[in-house]
Amino acid sequence: MRVLIAEDDSASRLIHQMIVEKCGHDCLVAEDGEEAWEIFQDAEVDVILSNWMMPNIDGIELCRRVREERRAAYTYFILLTARGEKEHLLEGIEAGADDYLTKPIDAEELQVRLISAFRVTSLQRQLTEKTQGLERLNELLFEQARKDPLTQLGNRLQLREDLEMMRGRIERYGHRYSAVLCDIDFFKPYNDHYGHQAGDEVLIKVANVVAEHLRSGDTAYRYGGEEFLIILPEQSLESATVVADRVRRAVEDLTIPHEAKTPPGSLTISAGVAALLPEGDKDIEVLLNDADKALYRAKESGRNLVMIHEPAGET
Ligand code: GH3
Ligand code: MG
Ligand code: MG
Repeated sequence: MRVLIAEDDSASRLIHQMIVEKCGHDCLVAEDGEEAWEIFQDAEVDVILSNWMMPNIDGIELCRRVREERRAAYTYFILLTARGEKEHLLEGIEAGADDYLTKPIDAEELQVRLISAFRVTSLQRQLTEKTQGLERLNELLFEQARKDPLTQLGNRLQLREDLEMMRGRIERYGHRYSAVLCDIDFFKPYNDHYGHQAGDEVLIKVANVVAEHLRSGDTAYRYGGEEFLIILPEQSLESATVVADRVRRAVEDLTIPHEAKTPPGSLTISAGVAALLPEGDKDIEVLLNDADKALYRAKESGRNLVMIHEPAGET
């Protein structure tokens, strides 16, 4: 362990240092509380062995500061008291000290205290490592619970939470959003012809195309089996349509053979685009319904198309 000794009396300091080093520990020494505090801030310290009475920062104040620091690694604090100071012990323990020793200190007694300190700091370290591991795992689970495992896009849970947030932003700040709802054309025959595994691979490829077209702030979700939703904040219907058509074209450019549709050709997608305008009082649910209606019209109009939620909109 690394032990920091805070002792203003030079003879005692030397004796404490000798005992600590004889016990096999590393030693840092400070001539008063002030110096000890400076050393502590720059170093990892397992144990502080501090005199009670010292000029400027005394042992109690040093202990309070150490405890306020709230480091991940625990510092075991032993206060050294002269005989007759015992009535203040409660104050020391309440300030955060773990133990005390009466001066002049006995080598064996200090050794015993350092063994306890080692036990406590080791347990504390294990606990910290475990807690950090659990926190990391928690974050990972939180993320995974919101991701579609096949495509790595946001899932329905993520969408629901994001929609709630968007709803708040629309109400509070008048933010506006556009939505693009994409759906793979003739995917059922694709699955029937090439198999479910090949279908899954297509879903991944299309999802990757969608993800590649997102700009900072945009979000994408697996909305249904072969449906993908893109939400574009602060974009007009026109600019969202440009994005939708780029995605549509990029999927077409993958030239994934689709022999099972009539006429045979490449796999394509259709998309519906809708926007919430700042002056409107529409809810976010309406935005998704509008995009869905536009998608339906794209399907009706022959597929591999992008349609806007507007009476005669088509690109
Ligand atoms: P349309 O052009 O009108 O969209 O026709 P479609 O055949 O694409 O639409 P339909 O809704 O009839 O079929 C969707 C298909 O998507 C049915 C289902 O087997 C398939 N599908 C849904 N989820 C998955 C999945 O996770 N993996 C695979 N491989 N297929 C899926
Ligand atoms: Mg569908
Ligand atoms: Mg489909």
